[in-house]
Amino acid sequence: MIASSPKRVVLLGGGHAHVEVVRRLGSLGPQAQIILVSPSRYAPYSGMLPGYIAGQYTFEDFNIDLQALCQRSSIAFREALAIGLDPDARRVRLEDGTWLDYDLLSLDIGSIPSLPNGISAGVSVKPIASFTERLGRLDAMASSAHFPLRLAVVGQGIAGVEVALALKMRLDWLVSAEARANGGVEFHLVGRSRRLIPERGKLALVLVEDALSRRGIAHHPAFDVVAVEDKELVARDGRRLTVDDIVWTTSSGAPPWLRQTGLALDPDGFIRVDAELRSLSHPNVFAAGDVAALVDPRPKAGVFAVRAGPVLAENIRRTLTGDALTTFRPQRAWLVLIALADGRAIADKWGLSAAGRWVKSWKHWNDARFVRRYRR
Ligand SMILES: Cc1cc2nc3c(=O)[nH]c(=O)nc-3n(C[C@H](O)[C@H](O)[C@H](O)COP(=O)(O)OP(=O)(O)OC[C@H]3O[C@@H](n4cnc5c(N)ncnc54)[C@H](O)[C@@H]3O)c2cc1C
Repeated sequence: MIASSPKRVVLLGGGHAHVEVVRRLGSLGPQAQIILVSPSRYAPYSGMLPGYIAGQYTFEDFNIDLQALCQRSSIAFREALAIGLDPDARRVRLEDGTWLDYDLLSLDIGSIPSLPNGISAGVSVKPIASFTERLGRLDAMASSAHFPLRLAVVGQGIAGVEVALALKMRLDWLVSAEARANGGVEFHLVGRSRRLIPERGKLALVLVEDALSRRGIAHHPAFDVVAVEDKELVARDGRRLTVDDIVWTTSSGAPPWLRQTGLALDPDGFIRVDAELRSLSHPNVFAAGDVAALVDPRPKAGVFAVRAGPVLAENIRRTLTGDALTTFRPQRAWLVLIALADGRAIADKWGLSAAGRWVKSWKHWNDARFVRRYRR
């Protein structure tokens, strides 16, 4: 039985888990006052970003309209950025200086780019919501007076590979025939680890290497960027790479303001949660997606945020009704679909991999189905 006085539930961030929470919790009715807070009305679906860069999707195709979603679920929406949190006083500080009180708080605010210390040169893919604006700067390379130009994509995980291939497709299409004849835009994929997509199997690696070499993208493994000096990337071992611009897809960091909140955090600054997705220090605070440090840790990948959504919604509901919470069991093996920007994609799971147009069709079907779910 839901308590008679309405509980104030604040959902911070329009991430992959919270869109499902909004869809499911609309049914709670007047017993709970729920508000979703996000700095942008639009929430991008990361799996479709490479397709957007490569010109296969429009902005509308890969973004969820949070305001419309909330409206359909009778949940309030506020376009605002949270910059602080006082979990003892139960309130969230917003960028405009106001505070938002809550009885129950849930955070699904994602992660931030983790650039080497002191480096601000280049363009970061994260936050994805505003990458579409920064893309204009890369497009401008196509109208340069001098070619060849050199672009480095830093980060050799799946995001780095997808972004490099998609940007290559985009810029090859944008540059003139004359610029192409003069070398066009050269691509360099740079990363700290000794091999590409270190978290995936050998078969997927072979397929990725083949895709990069077909598109003429150079790969620089074990290149741990420690500085950018003038137009040079400097590696820890002293190697240097001259570039005209840089795109960062490096691994995810925690939003720094969490360190001032008093919430229990892991050493990297992510919110430590129990198996029910509740903060270890503050049981009326939930966290899911990249920002959560799970009991049984997993990589920062959207697939876990998506899987956490139904459990998070259920546990918020059960907290309000006083019922026992349910457990989030993230999968041990998960399917990865890597877009190759040439009409093909790679599927990889359990060390088995395949590439082809049929995989791309499958990926498109999966991705489009996810976004469509939040449009009805
Ligand atoms: C190019 C690229 C491709 C990727 N492809 C895949 C893939 O195919 N499969 C996969 O599993 N993973 C993929 N990832 C990783 C994936 O993007 C993330 O793991 C995923 O987005 C995390 O989801 P989330 O719900 O934690 O946060 P996000 O999806 O990042 O959402 C966070 C939300 O919180 C909001 N927010 C942030 N800060 C605040 C604040 N202070 N106050 C209020 N709101 C805030 C943001 O605006 C945003 O709406 C990819 C990443 C990149 C960069």
